[in-house]
Amino acid sequence: MSNEPSGTLDQDDPRGPAVDPSTELQQYPGFTERMDPRPDHGEDSYTGHGRLSGRRAFITGGDSGIGRAVALAFAREGADVAIGYLPEEEEDGASCLELIRAEGRTALAVPGDLRDEAYAPAAISRVLDGLGGLDILVNNAGYHIAQPNGLPDVDADQLRRTFETNVYGTIWLTQAALPHLTAGASIINTTSVQGYHPSRNLMDYAATKAALNNLTVSLAEMLGERGIRVNAVAPGPVWTPLQPATTTSEKLESFGEGTPLGRMGQPAELAGAYVFLASNDARYVSGEVLGVTGGTPLG
Ligand code: NAD
Ligand code: MG
Repeated sequence: MSNEPSGTLDQDDPRGPAVDPSTELQQYPGFTERMDPRPDHGEDSYTGHGRLSGRRAFITGGDSGIGRAVALAFAREGADVAIGYLPEEEEDGASCLELIRAEGRTALAVPGDLRDEAYAPAAISRVLDGLGGLDILVNNAGYHIAQPNGLPDVDADQLRRTFETNVYGTIWLTQAALPHLTAGASIINTTSVQGYHPSRNLMDYAATKAALNNLTVSLAEMLGERGIRVNAVAPGPVWTPLQPATTTSEKLESFGEGTPLGRMGQPAELAGAYVFLASNDARYVSGEVLGVTGGTPLG
């Protein structure tokens, strides 16, 4: 093995391939095709093994980034997949639906705003109609805006948007889904390493992710008797539209360099964790937060 990381996601050396990101920023919510380099969702690397055969999944924020990589992997594992996204993200939503359909699976668009309490019941009923049921709920949508000086700069609108998207949206959607989940179903929340090691520029966001870690544990406790498992994935720094749309060029330039593996991750490198937690391989795993952080420990 050489000392220099290079190559593709199929390689053994986890130090690479490194991402050399353009520091060009985008307007929120950010678009995949405007990113340089384009994020890797596993299009050329993820191989399915029928581990989610016949399951029906709903992934919020499924249009882009981590959610898109999870949608593609779930489809390649044999699941039908519905994705949620903001109405203004139609371009990314359509691209992801195409990826799911290319696997011969049913793909369903459920655009809308999670901050609107009415979205949750409407979205779940659309998924039930479109997929014939729901076995896997991935609460992956998330919002943050970086504030270099921390809490003093977090205004009321930002605070509301961050908590309403990440916490209220997750709770409302989970509440709407619960009556329809049966034994064998699973819920997976996307949290963050920020829930354990908060950065000064993301204090409000980090607090929402700590809340979701906590909710993962209480929901797992509550739903165990129904045979429903609840887990979370806590990503470290990952190259997705959220980054150029919400941070600064300086942060982007060195994004991920502080991790033990010395680089940011690609969305594709997160997908396996979600597949594991959704599949029967994890049938005795519940209330767990699985870090995919490039080596930064949780806790
Ligand atoms: P992304 O921008 O590709 O995905 C986030 C998605 O959230 C958006 O595509 C959008 O569809 C959705 N969303 C945001 N606000 C919404 C709203 N009000 N209603 C409905 N949908 C809404 O970025 P990503 O990095 O793939 O983010 C996915 C998850 O991963 C988020 O929860 C994020 O907090 C988390 N995360 C990301 C990183 C990272 O470095 N990229 C690190 C840790 C955790
Ligand atoms: Mg998006």
